[in-house]
Amino acid sequence: MADERLPLQPGATIGVMGGGQLGRMISQAASRLGFDVVVLDPEENSPAGRVSRGQIVAAYDDPTALNVMGRVCDVVTFEFENVPAAAVEALAAGGALVAPGPTALAIAQDRVDEKTFLNAVGARTVDFVAVESAGDIVAGLERLGAPALLKTRRDGYDGKGQVWVRKASEAAHAFAAIGERPAILEARAPFQRELSVICARGWDGKVAVYPLGENTHAGGILRTTVAPAVTDAATQRRAKRIARAILDGLDYVGVLGVELFDLGDRLLVNEIAPRVHNTGHWTQDGCVCDQFEQHVRAIAGWPLGPTAAHARIEMTNLLGSEVDRWSRLAGRADTRLHLYGKVEARRGRKMAHVNRILPPVAD
Ligand code: AMP
Repeated sequence: MADERLPLQPGATIGVMGGGQLGRMISQAASRLGFDVVVLDPEENSPAGRVSRGQIVAAYDDPTALNVMGRVCDVVTFEFENVPAAAVEALAAGGALVAPGPTALAIAQDRVDEKTFLNAVGARTVDFVAVESAGDIVAGLERLGAPALLKTRRDGYDGKGQVWVRKASEAAHAFAAIGERPAILEARAPFQRELSVICARGWDGKVAVYPLGENTHAGGILRTTVAPAVTDAATQRRAKRIARAILDGLDYVGVLGVELFDLGDRLLVNEIAPRVHNTGHWTQDGCVCDQFEQHVRAIAGWPLGPTAAHARIEMTNLLGSEVDRWSRLAGRADTRLHLYGKVEARRGRKMAHVNRILPPVAD
């Protein structure tokens, strides 16, 4: 074990930066293993704060809050990738145990750095060019072919900050549409379907990889994941190889989500998320050790848990007012409901998800 403070004993305190539903489910898994959780989130009464020992209500880069987190927590983690990398660096520099580390966070926050890293470790992506001006888009279209997808380098999520560019004459308009910010132009991935793999790595370098999930999106937001996805053995091997290359390349500790494009004869990585992931929610009802417990085990220096599926699951996100279906869903025998405790059901907001147990696939 890399650090004499590990493994954490039950009763130790885990810090979570970010108080949304992912933090809430990390907190619930941690409390089942006997840990206390302290959440840092600027919004009072956050979904995670309400199921934890306590919440510090402050900005993520507030020096006093970071100091308190470092002092009261035996390990600090985060539940979303837009926590300032500098805040995580400050925590680590102050001597706190932080997992995953600041490097993984910094790489995942910048789409150009992310794709450069991925290709360097042999996890292939679409071809891309970095964009600083409309002229770069015109030159990029020449190289990548049209259409190509323009995305902001930073702060993009759920399909936000993205626009397809079909011809050179659209370059200036497309650049304006994303706010003329530093961007990436990506070749179109001619994928058959979108898959994802949830994986984990411990402080000792051991790796655990869950079966692939198959994802559908609507309006840029994840709607469903069906897992384990029906795939051939070669695709599963490729996904495992990609997961291990990324985890080892980042010297990663914790759970990581990898979004993939399935081109039939190969997999390309779309993006990585240095945290538990929406496409891994199926593991709550399909696996003995779900992704949240796995993350807690990994960062606490415990042995990683099993990743085999004991059931096929269809996970569906409930967005906005769809959460009003909760009472009908709660009455179903094949469905397990996971509500996030959010008060305001704004349009498109992730309010809950349901895991439906599917009949097994015949061999
Ligand atoms: P992202 O925000 O990068 O996850 O992209 C959101 C969605 O846009 C993905 O889930 C894909 O459906 C689609 N997409 C992203 N990048 C590409 C690409 N290079 N080629 C084709 N479709 C893409």
